[in-house]
Amino acid sequence: MQGGGPYEVSDCPKCGSLMWNGQCENIDCEYHWYPMQDEEEEE
Ligand SMILES: [Zn+2]
Repeated sequence: MQGGGPYEVSDCPKCGSLMWNGQCENIDCEYHWYPMQDEEEEE
């Protein structure tokens, strides 16, 4: 993963939709409701 931007965009490993900071954009996907966050830091 490359840092730098405020948002981290990736592909959902489950449904293939876009993920923003570990949250899937697909509301039918479990990662929409339970985002994947490993080392997320909030300020
Ligand atoms: Zn998904």
